[in-house]
Amino acid sequence: MSINKNYSKNISRNLAMTPNKIKSLYNFTFDDLAQHLQSTFYARLVFQSIYQQKVECVSQITMKNKKSLIANYPLDLPEVKSVITSEDKHTRKYILQLHDKKLIESVWMDYDERCTVCVSTQVGCAMGCVFCATGQMGFNRHLTTGEIIAQIMLLEKLEKNKVRNVVFMGMGEPLHNFASTMNAIDILTDFRAFAIARRHITLSTVGLVPQIQRLIDEPQSVNLAVSLHGATNKARNSLVPIGKKWPLEELMDVCREYTKRKKKRIFFEWTVIANENDSIDDAHDLAKLLEGIRAHINLIPLNTTKGYSGIPGAEVRIKQFREILNNYNIPNTIRQKKGIDVAAGCGQLKT
Ligand code: SAH
Ligand code: SF4
Repeated sequence: MSINKNYSKNISRNLAMTPNKIKSLYNFTFDDLAQHLQSTFYARLVFQSIYQQKVECVSQITMKNKKSLIANYPLDLPEVKSVITSEDKHTRKYILQLHDKKLIESVWMDYDERCTVCVSTQVGCAMGCVFCATGQMGFNRHLTTGEIIAQIMLLEKLEKNKVRNVVFMGMGEPLHNFASTMNAIDILTDFRAFAIARRHITLSTVGLVPQIQRLIDEPQSVNLAVSLHGATNKARNSLVPIGKKWPLEELMDVCREYTKRKKKRIFFEWTVIANENDSIDDAHDLAKLLEGIRAHINLIPLNTTKGYSGIPGAEVRIKQFREILNNYNIPNTIRQKKGIDVAAGCGQLKT
């Protein structure tokens, strides 16, 4: 099937497209700020104050001119409602309250001293994947760029450490909140702000085809993970309802184009559920589906959630599944169950 290139034309990085725009200095990319201040000199000064000196209040920014232009943009961080540390002490889940009392979750991980933050992009999620705790709570609202950035500012401050990796795998579907997510990535990778390498940022999507098409047109790219979980439309749609709108044929076409144009592999996420998607046939179907696509498969044993009765695939079945993928020369890994005891594992994020 050929891709209709036009369907990405309405997906814009313009922030006016995002609802719930809440004023914050953290909303501004460098270019937005330079435009707002009509000065790259002052934009540099403001970025240096907030991201290097880490001032916590606009009044602490020393500026001879143009101060009035930023005076109404606060540097508010969310309020910590609770912190839960995993038994091995390497994962901490933060429940954070936003200005409108809505709750989101961010997760700090410091295995191997490479600090990683898993950020949320929405309050809830509209995609309704049946096994996912966030999907089970439904959609509430998008986060602004500033609310995404503030999660990382806050966790770096509390953990007294610098973030090296950012994964967009918290609450929400990042590509459903396209403009805020892309602007947050700009700030994360900006050398005047967090200076995080693009290869240390991973965006995980349920497979929104027009938005992936739109990503192909971005000059720079981060790592892309696509959540599959089923290798036929019938199997996938029963777990991931949005598959009815963007069927596997179209999803695979856009993934194939992405790997070719970007010269990058795609990580495919496969939540392993006993007797749902862990059979030998499933593994063959998956391998055939990925033909011609540079892929790496992450197998994630299901984390049980209240709203779904499935159980994780057994170790022996996962081993068998991997052997088949190996025979097709498809690289694959099992995502370790880090942080499960604090319910910070994938898909357990629910406020
Ligand atoms: N919305 C995006 C990113 C957030 S979810 C997406 O779906 O990709 C991050 C990953 O966790 C996805 O691969 C998702 O399928 C997986 N996941 C969700 N619920 C899970 C669960 N209960 N057990 C294991 N993985 C889960
Ligand atoms: Fe949303 Fe991702 Fe959960 Fe699906 S798995 S409901 S897309 S957060």
